[in-house]
Amino acid sequence: MDLETFQWILGGWIALAVVIFLINLRIVAPYGRHTKRTWGPMIDNRLGWFLMETPVLLIFPLLFFLGPTEKSPLSYLFLGLYILHYAHRALIFPWRLRTRGKKMPIVIMFSAIFFNLVNAGALGIYFGFLAAPVPDRWAYHPAFWMGLVLFFSGMAVNWDSDTRLLNLRKPGETGYKIPRGGLFRYLSCPNLFGEIVEWSGFALLTFSLPGLAFAIWTAANLIPRGLAHHRWYQGKFEDYPPERRAIFPFLL
Ligand code: NDP
Repeated sequence: MDLETFQWILGGWIALAVVIFLINLRIVAPYGRHTKRTWGPMIDNRLGWFLMETPVLLIFPLLFFLGPTEKSPLSYLFLGLYILHYAHRALIFPWRLRTRGKKMPIVIMFSAIFFNLVNAGALGIYFGFLAAPVPDRWAYHPAFWMGLVLFFSGMAVNWDSDTRLLNLRKPGETGYKIPRGGLFRYLSCPNLFGEIVEWSGFALLTFSLPGLAFAIWTAANLIPRGLAHHRWYQGKFEDYPPERRAIFPFLL
């Protein structure tokens, strides 16, 4: 595949994200608190998370190393940051979940596997087979540093907020409480906000179309989910802090 064809395909993939965003605003993806039993066969929640996040851990590195492009220290850095995120998400996060006995629809797991494989595959094809070598001078560009700061601050917010959520439950509990502290002072879903910031930073620091596509897809999935969580909290808890926004501080 040449670069131009690849860019056209990714353009279509980004357009699809816009469609999915609009669908997600109307139909909440049925996992976690929004799980529905009417979406077909179910799988254990933690196993589902492990299975849907693990393939990406392999696919980007595989394509990256199989491809003939000249690798530079910066392209190794891009790969390393991606692996840092997904090693945590695939191998650590699922086993920290306190969701014993809970299930998710298998169709959700497969759609997440598909979404992950396309995004990771696009990054792998681009940096493994198509991209020009990333020049060392990119490391001196302000956009690279801005992207790096966004990536790590997004990751810190995501990890901190997920940890606060997971610690709300004592072992064996599966119910919901009002989360507090950290960016929960301002938001119902700082974990989802952090994830969007993180991948926006990745798009900027890699300055690549597949990086941008991944950030757009992340926002298309997580903005509607954050809005749905926010409405759910307001309906569930009478004393829910009224000043909290859903997913973007002071905005939304
Ligand atoms: P949620 O915030 O819905 O849930 C995270 C975990 O915390 C779940 O185990 C949930 O339990 C538990 N939890 C949430 N709120 C409460 C509460 N009020 N009281 C007690 N426990 C609570 O996040 P998601 O499951 O949607 O996502 C998990 C991670 O995956 C996030 O970091 C997210 O950013 C990331 N993600 C990334 C995507 C991407 O496109 N890049 C797509 C989807 C997720 P339960 O499951 O029982 O509700």
